[in-house]
Amino acid sequence: MVFSPTTTEEFNNWRRDHPDGFLVNHYANPTLGRLVLHRATCPCFKTDQQYVGGCAKTCAERIGELRVWASTVVGAINLQECGLCRPS
Ligand SMILES: [Zn+2]
Repeated sequence: MVFSPTTTEEFNNWRRDHPDGFLVNHYANPTLGRLVLHRATCPCFKTDQQYVGGCAKTCAERIGELRVWASTVVGAINLQECGLCRPS
């Protein structure tokens, strides 16, 4: 199931509850040029920062769910991959 947190707390709670999950970092209005796939445990994200605002997050337990989401919102299934956590 795809989850779109609306607050930083929701985002951090989801990551804590889904350590094997994945997320896409994107603009509030998703664009093809900025869809970055991360693991929920990516060191990019710290619990003491604000994450939901200009950049939104969409989370799921499986990468495939995020590819379906991306194809729905921007018509693409290709996601850029974070170089730090190397999600796939
Ligand atoms: Zn990452």
